[in-house]
Amino acid sequence: MEKTVSHTVRNNSGQTFKTDQLSIALDCRGDNAYTKLSYPVKYGIFSRLETRDHLFEFNLNHEIRHAKAKTRDWPHPSEWLKRTLGNDWVYYSSGGYAGVYEAIGEYYLPNFTYPTNAVIGGKPFNEPPVETIVNHWPDLLAKIPSTGLPDRFTKWLNRVKQIDAGTLKKKADRLFGINGTRVTVLPPDARHVDYNVIPLTISDGCLYKCRFCRIKNQKPFSARSHADISGQIRELKDLLGDDLINYNALFLGEHDALNSPENLILDTIQEAVREFNFKGSYMKDRYLFMFASADALIDKKTAFFDRLNRLDMTLFINVGLESSDPETLDRIGKPTPPEKIRAAFERGKAVNAGFSNIEVSFNFIMDDTLASGHHDSMLRLIRGSVSRPVSKGTIYLSPLRFDRPSRQVLYDFYKIKSLSRFPAFLYIIQRL
Ligand code: SF4
Repeated sequence: MEKTVSHTVRNNSGQTFKTDQLSIALDCRGDNAYTKLSYPVKYGIFSRLETRDHLFEFNLNHEIRHAKAKTRDWPHPSEWLKRTLGNDWVYYSSGGYAGVYEAIGEYYLPNFTYPTNAVIGGKPFNEPPVETIVNHWPDLLAKIPSTGLPDRFTKWLNRVKQIDAGTLKKKADRLFGINGTRVTVLPPDARHVDYNVIPLTISDGCLYKCRFCRIKNQKPFSARSHADISGQIRELKDLLGDDLINYNALFLGEHDALNSPENLILDTIQEAVREFNFKGSYMKDRYLFMFASADALIDKKTAFFDRLNRLDMTLFINVGLESSDPETLDRIGKPTPPEKIRAAFERGKAVNAGFSNIEVSFNFIMDDTLASGHHDSMLRLIRGSVSRPVSKGTIYLSPLRFDRPSRQVLYDFYKIKSLSRFPAFLYIIQRL
């Protein structure tokens, strides 16, 4: 599909200042609902600074959040850089990779500065104009004169210039300190809100410590206390400051939040929604994301899912099943019996069918060196277990090895996708 450049942004006149050299638009209003469109959409309330060569956008705390160059050497006019809450730069690619939407369920492909499992994408951070913004944006801002502007715009520009790369790094470190850890992986479903989540750690560690897993830590599973979680909420409110109004999504960490006690989960969600004032957010609707183990999904009672379903938000629970083949589970060192994997899949299907506000999604691994039993047993679940295509219960496929030629991985993925009766996408591992 042809992609066009568009600006889905409104701005109150009187808050815009323009000269031949620059324009500043304060408190622009972007889209207020997450959508999937084939042109760039800007969400939330933000301010925009445009020079002859660059376009920068800042959140309500005067922190840079998007940037792109307007010069001819910028890779593509509808591509841009985003700075995350964890202070990573992510480059959103628009095209050039046929079938991005079919592969990941989104029109734009996030590219990262750190190693991940992505099998599509290029090396945008090697492009000089991208590198210039990522490493030198404070110098670019410093060169813009703040004199000769109306007072309000001078003040805003000076404030923006004060927040340099070191300040933003310290703020990200503070975030990791509040959670007690950095979020090393977000659920794949967080793509539905462009990964704009507030992270709240309600439990640490995981149950299985699978040998193949690169994101696990050594902590045994344990739930946090109510007091700890309330403390995080207070500090996160303070950290997000004026920009809190742009958030309507929560990530409950870390690797198996669903295994936490039922009341802890429900109380946390209700407290967070109230304290973060999600109902007063500029962004419409409310979202919650968490990971779950097979054990947690099976153990939780139907009455609990019923209570989750009544929370007036959309919930995504992502379960790492990986495989239901005994030989494959043994090879990857996942100590979950195949019958439990199958039972968790059935439980997830039942939750998806019974609760309109909850989607349970599933992760499976893919690799051409896995036993044939892996492929066959996975197809029995994702094809044979339903008689017609279903819209919930997304299957995310994650390549086991990161070093295989992407053409081959993509070929295998599309083969599985065409057979699956559940929506199927590649799992792009993104941290916060
Ligand atoms: S795959 Fe999940 S359960 Fe297994 S080690 Fe990694 S985080 Fe833990």
